[in-house]
Amino acid sequence: METGNHCYDYIVVGLGTAGSATCLELARRRVSVLGIDAHRPPHRLGSHHGASRSIRRAYLEGSAYVPMAMRSWQLWRKLEKDATIDLLVTTGNLTIGPPYSPAVAGFLASARKYQIEHEQLTARQVMERFPCFTMPEDFVAGLEVEAGIIFPETAITTILTQAHQSGATLHFNEQVESWQETAGGVIVQTTQGRYEAGRVLVSAGAWTGKLLGLAEPLLRPHRVVVHWLEEPDARFHLGRLPVSFWQIPVGNDAQTNDPYREFYILPTIPPDSRLKVAFHNGLEPCDPDVLRRDVLTGEDDAIRDVLGYFCPELQHHPIRSEVCLYIMTPDTHFYLGKRPGSKNVFGVALAGHGFKFAPVLGEILADLLTDTPPRFDLTLFSPARF
Ligand SMILES: Cc1cc2nc3c(=O)[nH]c(=O)nc-3n(C[C@H](O)[C@H](O)[C@H](O)COP(=O)(O)OP(=O)(O)OC[C@H]3O[C@@H](n4cnc5c(N)ncnc54)[C@H](O)[C@@H]3O)c2cc1C
Repeated sequence: METGNHCYDYIVVGLGTAGSATCLELARRRVSVLGIDAHRPPHRLGSHHGASRSIRRAYLEGSAYVPMAMRSWQLWRKLEKDATIDLLVTTGNLTIGPPYSPAVAGFLASARKYQIEHEQLTARQVMERFPCFTMPEDFVAGLEVEAGIIFPETAITTILTQAHQSGATLHFNEQVESWQETAGGVIVQTTQGRYEAGRVLVSAGAWTGKLLGLAEPLLRPHRVVVHWLEEPDARFHLGRLPVSFWQIPVGNDAQTNDPYREFYILPTIPPDSRLKVAFHNGLEPCDPDVLRRDVLTGEDDAIRDVLGYFCPELQHHPIRSEVCLYIMTPDTHFYLGKRPGSKNVFGVALAGHGFKFAPVLGEILADLLTDTPPRFDLTLFSPARF
């Protein structure tokens, strides 16, 4: 490594979901770590804002995630204990669609394989239990009983506080502009200075592809419009309504380029009185540096149409909408590991479903950075797969 710059064993670029947890885990391993963020997380400019994130262990995106999801659940509970704070509340999770849909089939396959407590419900049973929902007779649902919601802003504040207390150096409101590999490590240039480290993790959310210098469209940012429905009644509250994920067959839909449209509903969290609804696919690719953060009139039309079918009493409720960001991979699986062509630069991208894994990602990424043998099979997430 060159001399004259501030030197660390590791630099973590971006202190949101993955970056904060990795800093904490590295600091606990007694290595020197500098975490740098362009803002002060939690904030509303990346991918982690919006009061709630669903957490479940039966994983419709693939059984490979289940052992990680189980470990993550344990680590969230441990973090709650360490910090004496509530971060995770159970409310159940429903996966809804036709029996042949990848979501329902994936949910049931992973729940059975890992013996996760669940119920298989007919459309009629769902509508009896949750009368606010309307479903075609040929739809079914998988209910994971012990699933719920994490509070993302509180979670990130807690993780960053613990990282600081464990010895991580954290720089906020400092933007990383570039990095350069040297014979022995990496030099990182920011708006405020130059730092050196043996290894660097780029965990910059929607900016990760740009900062890693990857060819488009490998890691592709998408604009997500999140809709908040004002003042639904108590039947929609946390504890009474599960999180629901819906996969609706639409033929070859021109907008999604996908045979299914996916959306989710998250219950209200009193004293807040807003229900959260958003599409999970068919999203607009974007450049996060010139992102349209305002939401135009008419951008809630499609979600109102969907509610009209599946939760009709909410179709005409007042809606306020805001913008969040996904960074998508071509196969919708995570991107975790060494940047192809680099010796000491690593990246992480979470494809719109990573918050629930934050603590286990901290462990996984710290293992990768410190050449510790991985405790999970990470083949599905290897950057080399593209
Ligand atoms: C609307 C919405 C709903 C979601 N729902 C769920 C859910 O229910 N369950 C679930 O598990 N996941 C969910 N997700 C996905 C999950 O929130 C994301 O996968 C996760 O937050 C991404 O984490 P990240 O660390 O990659 O990015 P972030 O948490 O956004 O962190 C990236 C950080 O990098 C910083 N940064 C960027 N550029 C630079 C730079 N040049 N220099 C320094 N710092 C920089 C940013 O300021 C930011 O703080 C949802 C996402 C959205 C948008």
